[in-house]
Amino acid sequence: MTEKVDLEEVKASNGEAHRDEPMANGLAGPKKSSPEPLVERVKRIVRANLLVILTVAGVIVGVFIGLGVRNASLTETQKIHIGFPGEILIRLLKMIIIPLVVCSLVSGAASIDPKALGKLGGWAMLFFLVTTLIASSIGVVMAFIIKPGNVDVINAVDQGQADGDVPAHKEIVDSFLDLIRNIFPSNLVSAAFRSYVTSYRTVIKNSTQDNSLNLTVEMVPKGTEQEGMNILGLVVFAIVFGVALRKLGEEGEILIKFFNSFNEATMILVSWIMWYAPLGIMFLVAGKIVEMDDVAKLFASLGKYIACCMIGHAIHGLLVLPGIYFVITRKNPYTFLWGIFTALATAFGTSSSSATLPLMMKCVEEKNGVSKHISRFILPIGATVNMDGAALFQCVAAVFIAQLNNTSLNFIQVITILVTATASSVGAAGIPAGGVLTLAIILEAIGLPTTDISLILAVDWLVDRTCTVLNVEGDAFGAGLLQFFVDRTSKREGVAELSEVRTTPEHSPLIDKRGLEGAKADPSAEKESAM
Ligand code: ASP
Repeated sequence: MTEKVDLEEVKASNGEAHRDEPMANGLAGPKKSSPEPLVERVKRIVRANLLVILTVAGVIVGVFIGLGVRNASLTETQKIHIGFPGEILIRLLKMIIIPLVVCSLVSGAASIDPKALGKLGGWAMLFFLVTTLIASSIGVVMAFIIKPGNVDVINAVDQGQADGDVPAHKEIVDSFLDLIRNIFPSNLVSAAFRSYVTSYRTVIKNSTQDNSLNLTVEMVPKGTEQEGMNILGLVVFAIVFGVALRKLGEEGEILIKFFNSFNEATMILVSWIMWYAPLGIMFLVAGKIVEMDDVAKLFASLGKYIACCMIGHAIHGLLVLPGIYFVITRKNPYTFLWGIFTALATAFGTSSSSATLPLMMKCVEEKNGVSKHISRFILPIGATVNMDGAALFQCVAAVFIAQLNNTSLNFIQVITILVTATASSVGAAGIPAGGVLTLAIILEAIGLPTTDISLILAVDWLVDRTCTVLNVEGDAFGAGLLQFFVDRTSKREGVAELSEVRTTPEHSPLIDKRGLEGAKADPSAEKESAM
């Protein structure tokens, strides 16, 4: 499908344009002279929100199935089988991540003028940075108020519940160097399933000085590859490749078309997967409840820590982010949240921002009026680098571990926590428990034992869910704000500025005359054809 982007599409994709139309969630209703019968109205609302209703029902039914089956003393194999439909959802979403991220970023970067690309990217990064810092601060403040570490947690949590994979010791400088190395993957194919990680080898040197033998032990960093997609490397490559294609002019046209149609086809697959999401989420939730350890015991010992993280996530997700959105756009942020509800439920069910990315793109475009050019460019970047939820829980965890070890934190250490949490959340992978692995960076920075991470791992299956919801919510609000920024700029400075952000006939090799006329005559055609 060729890109058909002009002012009409911009209007159609602009949130404000929806004022005159039935709202995406069906609440506004069509303009009619005679009042609509109640049954019709209910039917229309249900039809418009069917996916959200099914998703909520999926979560609720999943909880009941889980609680019902939990007492049936199932074998480990049977427990795995219960989670099978959920496993399929995660596999489907993971399958779609690489084509989606690469194609959307290549075509996004190729369709935006480099100047506007820089501007958009700059605003997005600023938003991501500021909101992550705010989230980190909320985490620290919550932990100081609730004091989750002032209990005898270590004895209360038995070994069986705290036996996750504690990350190996790593120097802070090596953690950041690894981040930079991963930005430049040495092999694009292996970046699709492996990333670089530093490990150490011990070198013992002996020297004789004044007739005595001196032994020095040095931990020398050595590079290894670990399982797990290097999404950061793929994101950076795709953006730079897109910019290069645009620079190529006509010669690059065919490849841009290729990535565009690949992208559109992937989005159609996403719209099919979406209808499977409620069922998948239902069994993900049920499977987790069935395999859970003694929850009461965990709550008794780590309840304050869990509460601290979850209340922090709720404050940031329900008050701070919506507040920022409202102050800047003067639009209702909760309508925006309602539009992305299915994606948020998927984040809760899968604990993975990467897996949620396909559904999030669909939701912000179709329900919240964010244009494809913005959502497909910003959301993959956000899902990779912007993790408000992770930064928040890492700060709570750092203060919690300090309290457990009776270490009082001074001002410099608190600032260190805020800065390293913000930086390490960038390095966290958008996968379940991605943030726990980078928590070690913060603990190393303030000199706390990384072995206490096992306590955090004991409850991460729960905290990670609200954490992931917040991670993806931040990305979505970022996309919404960028759309607002683009719309406002275009209103103030006229079509010229606007054309920087969208493909235009002069700039884009992709738009043929037929496409443009078609789009003008029927701005909705593009959306429909993607369904
Ligand atoms: N699970 C989170 C995500 O995918 C990452 C984390 O563990 O903080 O966004």
